[in-house]
Amino acid sequence: MNLAEKVRTISDFPKEGVQFKDITTLLKDADAYQEAIDRIADRYQEEDIDLIIGVEARGFLIGAPLALKMNKGFVPVRKPGKLPGDIATKEYDLEYGSDTLEVHRDSIEEGQNVLIVDDLLATGGTVAATIDLIEEIGGNIIEIAFLMELEALNGREKMKGYDVFSLIKE
Ligand code: 5GP
Repeated sequence: MNLAEKVRTISDFPKEGVQFKDITTLLKDADAYQEAIDRIADRYQEEDIDLIIGVEARGFLIGAPLALKMNKGFVPVRKPGKLPGDIATKEYDLEYGSDTLEVHRDSIEEGQNVLIVDDLLATGGTVAATIDLIEEIGGNIIEIAFLMELEALNGREKMKGYDVFSLIKE
């Protein structure tokens, strides 16, 4: 199946000039959603991975079903103020302003092997912050997986030294 065809582009969202890749059209297609998760899971069948890390919110839509399929635990990286326990926090720059991500400090044991998952790699800022957070709390990053990558934005540049995989490239 051509999964790229299942993602639609919406112009001028969330602001003028942006060509937003809308994955809801892929998610509502049961066969496409299933195939996307199966293909990502297949890639890691032989890998020694302990946990799947998903980034709020669309990273949950890929990371949680992947964790179930792979029989691994799932750890959410969340927007500020959502996690009740002891947290690690990372602020990162956006085009305008900044944003923050948080994770429970006890969600990963020192040296555990983790796979970081998000829906889409654009400039790489979100995942670069996630990498910092996960390493701060002791995670060993095996790879970073995306449903989709916008290659023209060179997000991989921010992830030098890490293995990066994307199912759909555009
Ligand atoms: P980055 O930090 O790589 O610039 O942006 C990636 C983050 O923003 C991801 O968490 C992703 O969910 C969201 N994002 C940015 N642009 C898009 C887009 O066109 N489509 C979708 N679905 N998410 C996007």
